[in-house]
Amino acid sequence: MNRFRLPDHLLVEEGIFSRIKDVMADREPKIDLKKALLVTDENLSKIYADMLSTIRSNFKNCETYLVQGGSFEQAVALAKHVVMEDISVVVGFGGGTVLDMAKYASFVSKALYICLPTTLSNDSLVSPVSVLGTDGLKRKTFRCTIPDAILVDVSVIMSAPEIQLLAGIGDTISKYTALKDWKIDSAVTGKAIDDFAYMISKMAFNAICYNEEKSIKSKSFIKVLAQALVMGGLAMEIAGNSRPSSGSEHLFCHSLEENFPEIRIPHGIAVAMGTYAATIFHNGNMEKIRRILHQYNLPVKPSAWKITEDIFVKAWQMAPASRAERRTVLDTADLSTQNLSRIYGMIEKEFA
Ligand SMILES: [Zn+2]
Repeated sequence: MNRFRLPDHLLVEEGIFSRIKDVMADREPKIDLKKALLVTDENLSKIYADMLSTIRSNFKNCETYLVQGGSFEQAVALAKHVVMEDISVVVGFGGGTVLDMAKYASFVSKALYICLPTTLSNDSLVSPVSVLGTDGLKRKTFRCTIPDAILVDVSVIMSAPEIQLLAGIGDTISKYTALKDWKIDSAVTGKAIDDFAYMISKMAFNAICYNEEKSIKSKSFIKVLAQALVMGGLAMEIAGNSRPSSGSEHLFCHSLEENFPEIRIPHGIAVAMGTYAATIFHNGNMEKIRRILHQYNLPVKPSAWKITEDIFVKAWQMAPASRAERRTVLDTADLSTQNLSRIYGMIEKEFA
């Protein structure tokens, strides 16, 4: 039995949404005759009204579901609707919550899942988990599977705010320290590293690290970024956990989210900021990380996101507790206020 699944299609093309039926024909002949459900939200349904009717026109029978909130209960109710109505294709159009809802509902209902991202801001679009709200509590991560197809329309991605692309780059850069932390975990716990997942994650990092396309709003760059994010998701699917894409730099981001909810910063930017400090803890190649952060002009200056020295220091000091079972460099790093203040000063000065 296969331990993991891979998507049948990953295509990055302009106008791909009008050809969903043709693209899927090899895997699902006559997909257009199957009952489909298009999952999006109200805001997107206004912005992309024409695009959504193009998507719907691939299917003879396609209803639209607008996500509100995005809780676990709603995802399960949506899955029930899919089963009861004999819907066999779920199409997710959006980012974050919309895609997590569509992914989880299709997983539970065993429907085919086609993912149409409107943003490339992080690798969750292809990860084997969904993050959903649970009654008044913190958001929780639920295991599911990756999409059957990921179709990216370059023109949609290009119309999104640039910060989303920068966040996607940041989430990919963070694999540098995530992989180092995975090695530490393996050395401490004796749990083997999945070499193939490790290699794929490294390739995703290298694609962004050694990319020669200077303009991030170009078709060729968007292709590179989409592939890097998908590789990050596949690495997690193959490893069966998030270690290839998430290390101490992600713990910093989780700690910020959980302890300082007033701070609003895109996930990918927070983990890139975390990668700077985590590379110091690892005694890693600072020159390399500095070069990439500057090359893409990533906005990682903490104060630009209202992260004060005090918040920065405390977020790092509380980071290990955000996922206590994880072994990372933070178990042995110097997390003294003095050292963390020094790093805060460095990053503030460098990205003035
Ligand atoms: Zn991430």
